Amino acid sequence: MAHQLPLWSPLCISLCFFAWLQGFFSVVHGDTNLSYPSLTPIDRDLYHSSGDLMEEIKALVLRHKDKLTLDTIKAQNKGYSAEIAVVTYSRRRQEADDKPRFRILLSFGQHGRELITSEVALRILSILCIEKFLPNLDQASLDQTLDNLVIKVVPMENLNGRRLVEAGDLCERRNGRGVDLNRNWSVDWGKKEKDYDPYEENPGTAPFSEPEAQIMRKIAVSFDPHIWVNIHSGMEALFMPYDHKNTTPDGVPSQKMKSLLEELNHLHCQKRCMIGSGGGSVGYLAHGTATDFMFDIVKVPMAFTFEIYGDGAASSKDCFKMFNPTDFGTFNRVLNEWSAAFFTIFKLGPNLLGENYSKPPLDKWVSIDEYLDGYLVERSSRYGKKMEVLELGLQEIRTYFRLFLLSSVLLLFMFCSRISKSKFSRPIVSAIAL
Ligand SMILES: [Zn+2]
Repeated sequence: MAHQLPLWSPLCISLCFFAWLQGFFSVVHGDTNLSYPSLTPIDRDLYHSSGDLMEEIKALVLRHKDKLTLDTIKAQNKGYSAEIAVVTYSRRRQEADDKPRFRILLSFGQHGRELITSEVALRILSILCIEKFLPNLDQASLDQTLDNLVIKVVPMENLNGRRLVEAGDLCERRNGRGVDLNRNWSVDWGKKEKDYDPYEENPGTAPFSEPEAQIMRKIAVSFDPHIWVNIHSGMEALFMPYDHKNTTPDGVPSQKMKSLLEELNHLHCQKRCMIGSGGGSVGYLAHGTATDFMFDIVKVPMAFTFEIYGDGAASSKDCFKMFNPTDFGTFNRVLNEWSAAFFTIFKLGPNLLGENYSKPPLDKWVSIDEYLDGYLVERSSRYGKKMEVLELGLQEIRTYFRLFLLSSVLLLFMFCSRISKSKFSRPIVSAIAL
């Protein structure tokens, strides 16, 4: 027996050392099963597929034609195309629409992996059609509130990205060609922080390079909402501008936003939700986001980003669990609490802004951009899909258009200054002659 000891002990020591080393690194990474992490799959008993979710929404619209309409908007850029479905809720559609109503725009599923957000969209639409109910909600007073509202709901902003998630890429947040749709907007676009993650936060080749962002901008500019909410998951938070800096805007509108968020936190988040500017609260600055564009350029007086659920204890590789509830109880709690939060917004939002609230006008460049977009889209539909003018890229066309405007103004200025010079010189000449 004694002679076996020198043979076995070095092997045993090395094995023990490697086992210890593996354990040590597992602890460092906060992951107890590094080589074979058990990833949570999408629970099909809880979650709809993207196809089923859209079918449910279409059926709902067909059952409630008096309240709901559905539009599908398509766009493409350099061989990549996308489409976005928008549901518009408006009671009294049959009556003359002369009285201006309060407009609310909600977008869900901007990031592919955040499936729970689109389930909330479906729940809100079902409650609006009185097919589902919220506890403690007085239907008569709700009807009165809803009479004065037009609500647009985008249930799945990033359908292409969502399809990648459903095909097994559970951590995908970007669109169908790898661009983060919440970094593709023009306010402070493309700026990269020290902790910039090129995989997660790819802003695209230019502001609005992505068809999804183009479509969303078109919806926002034409609808001109009083309230915008971009609904995400990954944590529990109620954010207001700004995302690209760690401050909130000054003045009364900012205070109104904050007071609405505090009320929501108190009523529906049991004060767990983080409140403040996205950039100041989330731990990183985000550049080129939708909410900063809505606030700064579309002049939406109340622009928010909500984070409705997060499992901070989940492994960073276990994306489905990190961003979505995985048990029936939590799934239902999130749907109930957050759909109730939106009905609180429907009620309190118009009161906070005042009945006769009128929005400041849009940024003038947005109007020109939209005119051009409309022109291009119109032409593409008249001449069929393969219209080369779209392939040129909207950014380049806009730049040429602005240069053309600038040079016209300069020419006009030079022309006017020549006329005024000759007007002033004439009397002096005639005075001398007389
Ligand atoms: Zn997100």
